[in-house]
Amino acid sequence: MRVDPQFLTRVRQGGEFDASVCMNCGVCTALCPLGVELLPRRLFRYVLLGNPDAVREQTETIFSCLLCHMCESNCPAGVHITENVRTLRTHLNREQYHLAEA
Ligand code: SF4
Ligand code: SF4
Repeated sequence: MRVDPQFLTRVRQGGEFDASVCMNCGVCTALCPLGVELLPRRLFRYVLLGNPDAVREQTETIFSCLLCHMCESNCPAGVHITENVRTLRTHLNREQYHLAEA
């Protein structure tokens, strides 16, 4: 695994991203109508750990999210899950068109 210590900073160039208070409880996963297992428990962790390759591999999942807020409205830690997902989409789009700083 390639660790990129600047990954979180680069993701935040695309908007708000904060998952630092996520306690990995799994409520979001249990309530997601799509059964999107990776959002946000592992996916956000990939960002915090600086693993851009793992995030890129989940592009389809990231763009499949309905932004329905079901997970976010029940998150006991108040993580802004849907805003984080929007930011990741922006980041992946910027990366695709070489707009994200390396
Ligand atoms: S419900 Fe909130 S605190 Fe729990 S795993 Fe999901 S984002 Fe993290
Ligand atoms: S916002 Fe996305 S991850 Fe959250 S419950 Fe809805 S579809 Fe699932």
